[in-house]
Amino acid sequence: MNASLKPAVDTANLRSKNLIGGKWKDAHSGQTIAVENPANESILAYVPQGQAEDINEAVKVARATFESPAWRKIRPIDRGRLLENIARKVEEHADELAYLESLDTGKAVSFAKVIDLPSTIDVFRYMGGWCSKLGGITPPISFDGKEYHAYTRREPIGVVGAITPWNYPLALGSWKIASALAAGCTVVMKPTELTPLSTLRLAEICLEAGLPEGALNIVNGYGHEAGEALARHPDVDKITFTGSTVVGKKIVEYALGNMKRVTLELGGKSPSIVFGDADLDQVGLGAALAVFFNSGQICFAASRLLVQESVYDKVVEAVAAVASQFKVGNGQEPDTLLGPLVSRKQQERVLGYIQSGQEQGAKLVYGGQKVGDKGYFLQPTVFADADQSMKIVREEIFGPVVSIIRFKDEEEAIRIANDTTYGLAANIWTRDIKKAHRVAHRLQAGSVWINCHGVIDPAAPFGGFKQSGWGREISEEGLHAYTETKTVCALLDD
Ligand code: NAD
Repeated sequence: MNASLKPAVDTANLRSKNLIGGKWKDAHSGQTIAVENPANESILAYVPQGQAEDINEAVKVARATFESPAWRKIRPIDRGRLLENIARKVEEHADELAYLESLDTGKAVSFAKVIDLPSTIDVFRYMGGWCSKLGGITPPISFDGKEYHAYTRREPIGVVGAITPWNYPLALGSWKIASALAAGCTVVMKPTELTPLSTLRLAEICLEAGLPEGALNIVNGYGHEAGEALARHPDVDKITFTGSTVVGKKIVEYALGNMKRVTLELGGKSPSIVFGDADLDQVGLGAALAVFFNSGQICFAASRLLVQESVYDKVVEAVAAVASQFKVGNGQEPDTLLGPLVSRKQQERVLGYIQSGQEQGAKLVYGGQKVGDKGYFLQPTVFADADQSMKIVREEIFGPVVSIIRFKDEEEAIRIANDTTYGLAANIWTRDIKKAHRVAHRLQAGSVWINCHGVIDPAAPFGGFKQSGWGREISEEGLHAYTETKTVCALLDD
């Protein structure tokens, strides 16, 4: 193994309990969930199977902390310093966290180091900067002609329930934690039951960085137990959820009871649109990475590749050639590009889609097979001659499968790109700057990348149109979603 990928992780002593009020605890029921390494099917750890009782306890602590002067009276600039301290501590432990994330999710350590960790560190640093700048406005009041002084305040929403998925647990969890803390909220997080380990280590690092006990609480558990209890809890003021659209719709129902605020980051079926005038030297690798990165387990994976007919055959060939070069293997090997899928269930699900693609008449150009006997590895898979009637084109697969679709002109490309219930992201490959922006304006997607893909930055809002979600995360807009605006108005006339 390459020395630079060697772990600083003590796999025999992984953090694996609930964190409530600064104490590491088992579930009240005593039950546990096994956390598996998807590369070799071994058990990495057992985490508590938290349920309503554990959620209640954590919410009580988060509420008490939120109300406490010790939390409320932290000066904004000091809250910013706290987040900066967390960023620094995560930086110090970056190699360890990247390795842990790789063990748990299967992803390549080398990519966790350059994607997941910077995303985590940057969001704490970025949100830390906002703490001392979260001001309001002084609206000029016309009302009845008397003199008033009015101003707005951005107040923290209160106790935030956060639920995360398994593909980028550390980075996506950090988006929620950093934004909530920056706004002055306290948090109860339920990480995914499949890959919770980096979240637990992050929580420990937050405490080491000086975060007051009770400001961040973690309850492990299954979605239908701990997750539902958190989303239904009457003393949780906001729920921020990242996961599938199916579960996102349930979260909306659960949240209705006390009309908690809801942010949803959901699924996608994003298009890559390649025009005939694109730089084809860039497109093969660009379009392939846009879908296959993280073995396709990315919400904004560009799993529909729309190609203009004049370059269709060349692009199919180029993408298949790049896919065939991608090394599928254990994420801790230095040259691995695609690690395993997260679980046997996910591997079987994706294989089911591959079968349906073949049955519905798409042409399998590359891949489609499992790799090895142990672990949940799958070849990157390229389908050509796909169309809108096929399941592989309409449904989110969340695996390394691309469907390549032919189009004639700009209008047809836009029509096909928007013909989906999702609207998370899209990318456009062309050398024509006018066309690029014209098309970008008409795509129903929360992020549109031109001649690039997946440029996610804490300063840029991220989220979906249509059934890809509600609201935005990160950025100033994402931060505001953790606040309530209050208008205060005083009569000045006698
Ligand atoms: P999932 O919806 O199955 O699970 C996500 C989380 O919700 C997990 O923590 C799970 O335990 C919990 N959950 C499940 N059922 C629940 C319930 N009834 N009540 C409350 N919580 C419940 O999603 P997943 O399989 O972990 O992740 C893959 C999905 O996430 C894909 O659809 C992907 O597109 C989406 N995703 C979206 C984004 C984004 O930013 N838009 C990012 C990453 C992943």
